[in-house]
Amino acid sequence: EENAEYLLSLIRTIPGFPKEGINFRDFMPVLADAKGLSILIDALVESLPVDPDEFDVVAGLESRGFLIGVPLALRLGKGFVAIRKAGKLPPPTKRMEYSLEYGTAAIEIEDQAVRSGERVLIVDDLIATGGTAQAAEKLIQEHGATVAGFSFVMELTGIPTPPSIGQHKRSSLLTMP
Ligand code: 5GP
Repeated sequence: EENAEYLLSLIRTIPGFPKEGINFRDFMPVLADAKGLSILIDALVESLPVDPDEFDVVAGLESRGFLIGVPLALRLGKGFVAIRKAGKLPPPTKRMEYSLEYGTAAIEIEDQAVRSGERVLIVDDLIATGGTAQAAEKLIQEHGATVAGFSFVMELTGIPTPPSIGQHKRSSLLTMP
């Protein structure tokens, strides 16, 4: 509780960024704060949506998912794989397109990064509509691998998440409007 309040005190809200109507939640100050960073990674370990023996590898979503995914994986004795925005990773890769409010976006993963049958914990800083998380799920499944769960730092309330996300175990350290 006290720790949640400490983290919340560090998160900055920026109205109108990156566009009008969006209340951007910035957790970078948590990483910049030695105590905040330590609390954050401890809390992610303690609130895992599944036991560590129920997944093989941690996958982080570009780019803030990288910042928490690597220390989390290190703490758990797991490896880390990057799911990146399209065009950043060298081939061969798999790609998944998904819809945004306007237009589409695409994410990619290196073919060799995930093996068939592997169980993957997907991590990111924030889940809003769940569109990004759902695309990551499809990408993992395209490799014949499975999603063991989702781990987020922040979850926005009042936005329905896609049913496929709801079927998985997930943890969010902080919920906010
Ligand atoms: P979704 O696909 O769930 O709508 O949006 C989640 C993705 O957008 C995540 O990769 C997350 O980093 C980014 N995102 C959306 N809104 C915010 C926000 O308010 N703060 C931060 N830090 N990231 C956001």
